[in-house]
Amino acid sequence: RDNAEKFEFQAEVSRLMDILVNSLYSNKDVFLRELISNASDALDKIRFLSLTDKEILGEGDNTKLEIQVKLDKEKKILSIRDRGIGMTKEDLIKNLGTIAKSGTSAFVEKMQTSGDLSLIGQFGVGFYSVYLVADYVEVISKHNDDKQHVWESKADGAFAISEDTWNEPLGRGTEIRLHLREEAGEYMEESKLKDLVKKYSEFINFPINLWASKGIDVEVPANEDESTDEEESSDSSSSDEEDAEKSEDEDGEKKPKTKTIKETTYDWELLNDVKAIWLRSPKDVTDEEYTKFYHSLAKDFGDDKPMAWSHFTAEGDVEFKAVLFVPPRAPHDLYGSYYNSHKSNMKLFVRRVFISDEFDDLLPKYLNFLMGLLDSDTLPLNVSREMLQQHNSLKTIKKKLIRKALDMIRKLAEEDPDEIHDKDKKEDAEKSGDEEDEKKGQYTKFWNEFGKSIKLGIIEDATNRNRLAKLLRFESTKSDGKLTSLDHYISRMKPGQKDIFYITGANKEQMEKSPFLERLKKKNYEVILFTDPVDEYLMHYLMDYEDKKFQNVSKEGLKLGKDSKDKELKESFKELTKWWKTALASENVEDVKISNRLDNSPCIVVTSKYGWSANMERIMQSQTL
Ligand code: ADP
Ligand code: MG
Repeated sequence: RDNAEKFEFQAEVSRLMDILVNSLYSNKDVFLRELISNASDALDKIRFLSLTDKEILGEGDNTKLEIQVKLDKEKKILSIRDRGIGMTKEDLIKNLGTIAKSGTSAFVEKMQTSGDLSLIGQFGVGFYSVYLVADYVEVISKHNDDKQHVWESKADGAFAISEDTWNEPLGRGTEIRLHLREEAGEYMEESKLKDLVKKYSEFINFPINLWASKGIDVEVPANEDESTDEEESSDSSSSDEEDAEKSEDEDGEKKPKTKTIKETTYDWELLNDVKAIWLRSPKDVTDEEYTKFYHSLAKDFGDDKPMAWSHFTAEGDVEFKAVLFVPPRAPHDLYGSYYNSHKSNMKLFVRRVFISDEFDDLLPKYLNFLMGLLDSDTLPLNVSREMLQQHNSLKTIKKKLIRKALDMIRKLAEEDPDEIHDKDKKEDAEKSGDEEDEKKGQYTKFWNEFGKSIKLGIIEDATNRNRLAKLLRFESTKSDGKLTSLDHYISRMKPGQKDIFYITGANKEQMEKSPFLERLKKKNYEVILFTDPVDEYLMHYLMDYEDKKFQNVSKEGLKLGKDSKDKELKESFKELTKWWKTALASENVEDVKISNRLDNSPCIVVTSKYGWSANMERIMQSQTL
């Protein structure tokens, strides 16, 4: 085209497209889901803006916030059109090609190993999945602030943008035209599209219409010469009425015989039901529906079920409905850049209108692995996002969400018989039937995926520290390689034992051999074995639990019950300990003491109460090197 401007794709985007074009991945359906999700996002954006500026929607068809899917079988073009916010020329250049998102390289990397292509949407590059099925794609877009433009690319490293002087004006919004590849013939079938749109649009909050054919019976004169008119007018649903009138006229004159033939007419067919799942009563929503809803929120269409969910209504000064999910597995990089960028996975709605999924403060950082949605009737609709972000009710909402989230996790923990409990409970669990089996090991699975989040919570969230400590799991010298909890540790404490004993180290085997444990083991005390570097930090914050203090067994202050000989021994070895102290010099040791913590080893170096444990020194060293 004369007025086309050429651009090169950013390098990572280009690589991504190569991978998609050459992919042998068999499930190519993902592209439709991604396009519908983009259309829905664009509609959400314009609807949000229209809350404060009614003019923005325009008039006539422009006010219809909908998505249309249309098939042109002859030209092999599938188009998805929305009346969303649209894209300016600038937007087209930036969003579709020149600026790579952070997820681009992460996704490319994943695909080179053994990644699941259907997760593309989670990486923020879902649009490019169109090249799984199309070899040429046009994006026609009209934004209120610009003229209509066409973006086009054959995935050959470049794309072109032109001012649109030849297509029908869109009014506002975006139409994506996919010129389907030969092999993608299945998407030329209406029935396939219907199934897919139904499947993927179940939780889209805008109507999705398919330009669908319908076979109707039409009476035509038996004489073939006269039937040509009818065929031409067949592309409209009202044609059958006209036909009927005509044939009546003709009937009046000649009374020829008529015959009935099948004709195809086209009309928009609504494919989804836009009733929001969270507005329904939890008892009317099936597990399967929650699972599907989770998949659509998470842009994850694997077979995995979420580990748990909670659907509730908050009442009182702040009213809202919410659904929270524990995903089946941690997102990529949960404790790296993901954690630090503080991206919450909560969608905020106000009275059914989507407001934002980028509110930082709906959940604290450590709960960012949860996925969910909340719809508030209390928050105001007609204010900017910034104003809303500062609204007083948000604090209350956050508090309630945290409570519910921790409740949900606690319940998940209760249902796991795969931990070391007291003897009685273990037997109970073994007796239970099939239903329990499905839940078996759930919390252990949870712990392996998200345990670190609970620990970070204990560090960050003083208000809920005790609740979070209840959710803590660890191995101990008595847990037999399984996980156990503080409550169960306490239930096994020896009579007279005041403190909860723990030791930190790089690995279990090493710790089990540690001379620090000699005597404790011999006397049958249980010791918690902490191996995660974060555990060291954790124990700076977790001072006590249920009136019991924590005692690091490698630090001073270990008390193993009173021994009548202690005082006597201390007296008789006074000279020796004094001599040792001067012999070792004060730069090296703070003190030398008689101790009852050892069994075979003659002596041991312990850390002072407030000093760094040897393990902490090891961690700090590995961080600075
Ligand atoms: P994501 O949706 O995760 O941002 P995509 O690759 O699906 O990633 O889309 C890239 C960007 O292109 C979107 O963020 C949006 O800015 C823009 N975009 C895509 N489709 C549309 C559309 N139908 N209307 C408006 N903007 C769109
Ligand atoms: Mg998208």
